[in-house]
Amino acid sequence: MENRWSDRDAESAIERWSKQGANIDVALRTYSSRLIGVEPHLVVHGGGNTSVKTTAVDDTGEPVNVICVKGSGWDLATIEPAGLPAVRLEPLVKLQSLDTMSDEAMVNAQRANLLDTTAPNPSVETLLHAFLPHAFIDHSHANAVLALTDQPDGEALCREVFGDRMACVPYVMPGFALAKKALAVFQERPDVDGMILLKHGIFTFGHTAREAYDRMIAAVTLAEQRITDQARVSLAGMHLPRAVGRGRPKSFSPIRLPDRIASVADVAPILRGLAAIDKGEGAYARWIFDYRSSPEILDFVNGADIGRYSQQGPATPDHAIRIKTKPLITPPADGGRIDAFAAGARAAMDAYKADYYAYFKRNNARHGGSRNALDPVPRVILVPGLGLFGLGASRTDAAIAADLAETNVAVITDAETLGQYRVISEADIFDIEYWSLEQAKLGKTTEKPLARQIAVITGGGGGIGAATAASFRSAGAEVAVLDIDEGQAHAAAKNVGGMGLACDVTKPRDVAGAFERVVVALGGVDIVVSNAGGAFQGLIGDVADSVLRESFELNFWSHHSVAREAVRIMRRQRTGGCLLFNASKQAFNPGPGFGPYGLPKAATIQLMRQYAIDYGADGIRAAAVNADRIRSGLLTDAMVAERAKARGIGTDAYMSGNLLGREVRAADVADAFVALACAERSTATVMTVDGGNPAAAPR
Ligand code: ZN
Repeated sequence: MENRWSDRDAESAIERWSKQGANIDVALRTYSSRLIGVEPHLVVHGGGNTSVKTTAVDDTGEPVNVICVKGSGWDLATIEPAGLPAVRLEPLVKLQSLDTMSDEAMVNAQRANLLDTTAPNPSVETLLHAFLPHAFIDHSHANAVLALTDQPDGEALCREVFGDRMACVPYVMPGFALAKKALAVFQERPDVDGMILLKHGIFTFGHTAREAYDRMIAAVTLAEQRITDQARVSLAGMHLPRAVGRGRPKSFSPIRLPDRIASVADVAPILRGLAAIDKGEGAYARWIFDYRSSPEILDFVNGADIGRYSQQGPATPDHAIRIKTKPLITPPADGGRIDAFAAGARAAMDAYKADYYAYFKRNNARHGGSRNALDPVPRVILVPGLGLFGLGASRTDAAIAADLAETNVAVITDAETLGQYRVISEADIFDIEYWSLEQAKLGKTTEKPLARQIAVITGGGGGIGAATAASFRSAGAEVAVLDIDEGQAHAAAKNVGGMGLACDVTKPRDVAGAFERVVVALGGVDIVVSNAGGAFQGLIGDVADSVLRESFELNFWSHHSVAREAVRIMRRQRTGGCLLFNASKQAFNPGPGFGPYGLPKAATIQLMRQYAIDYGADGIRAAAVNADRIRSGLLTDAMVAERAKARGIGTDAYMSGNLLGREVRAADVADAFVALACAERSTATVMTVDGGNPAAAPR
């Protein structure tokens, strides 16, 4: 493993953070914590923690001994001095004298001794850091160390690899008991560089930040070397034709795969529908999917023995909070028999959920039934032939699940190279998954109304489209912005943290391609706002047929292509959906010279109704927004000025010429789309957003 320490960077870290009031110890602690955090083979997503023992001054200006330790909610990769709250050291060290301490009492003692009461909760592993005497302590969940220790006899393997440089601590759940155990082990072996926490991770110590970090990298490198050596032996013995991936040693003996593998776009909506939690009355708690594949992942998911090695439990207990005890395995993604795949996947999902509830019941009994069951949905799905999916309530959470899944693939592959992957017991995993302190980390905020839903917005780069993308994002939806102008699509998407795609909605193949990319990236589609349109004008008897046809292509046919693609995906998901169309007052209240625009818009209203009628039984709703006089690409300032002049009024008077006497903005249209998406019992309806125009009211 690369040692990333740089004296120059360390010095600039001191310079940078001393300006924020951090002393040299804390500045260097921040610097080397980041070195650990940025290395995914050491920690991922908030895993691991670090500390430094130093002095601070209290309110009277007196120096006080403190331990600055990683605060809850901070990630080592991006940590700042504020993420290392200072806790008075002596009161913590005194706790050694206790025999036991509850989690709640421990957290309270840690908080009570903070110098700054507004600081985040110190890590649940704070006491372990505090009880040991070393100035700097680093803790990671290094992949290579986990591969060594996640074995039936991991301790022997660790002794072989690390000799007497590292002590081994048997598995104990993090908290007071682990801190005591680690201290006892250390007191017997006070000369070690660090400790292997069996089936959990590694701690290294040092007088300086550099020493602790160097020891971490050295130990992990030893472990990596051991895996590589074993792989060479295995390869030589097995006469394997190739090493998988980047010289990855293990090649699981594969199953026979179907001749044609189904596409991600075909498989993801099926799985997404199966994973959705039916809340009754047509409501669902859906999931965002994050698809991953690589030679290593395929080697792993295609292995004949996947039912054993993938079902043991996570590589380090911490992962159980994010990805539960085990992933779901589906049948191979047979492209020739997608219906059979769907049926097999459904059976596998049902079995997974039943198994999860049985696991909960079994283990909750040990706690006197005091825990409340979490949802039984897997956070990782393995699909032989295709790869894996991470599931989450948001795109971010799905990515975290997928990252952890990839880490598990790497660790398990290495562990199986060395011997056989084996982790802590089911009971120990349960105690972590249902640990109140860990559940608290995940937060229990109320979800936004469109959370867990995926919205596709066409014409999303323009005024109304971009405002709509922003409104859907504010309502919690994951957003994909399609626009004929790729730059505008990306700009609007970036604004809302969504994905942007170039798409000419008048080309059905373009539409299909864009939807496929959305499904691959997010797992499916729940809401479509078919918004792209264009104003075409001309007296209906004079205008060229080509103009009228062109308008129909954009203002009618594209709506159909978009809706058809969405419905195809929604029916695979079997969790309903919502189709929203941007119509126009022209559909109800035609104006002179606007026939080429109004005719296809009127047809689009009818199209909306037809989709509502034909797919209502599938839970798919359809609705349109009938907007008027919105400043946008279709109604430019010049046009406004011209129309106002024709009526002999000012532009403001023209724009607010409605019952309410107020100009209607793009954001008002956007909010109407969101309102329709939330209106679970409304379909085949039109909502006017025009400030009141009786002549254009649907009738
Ligand atoms: Zn840990």
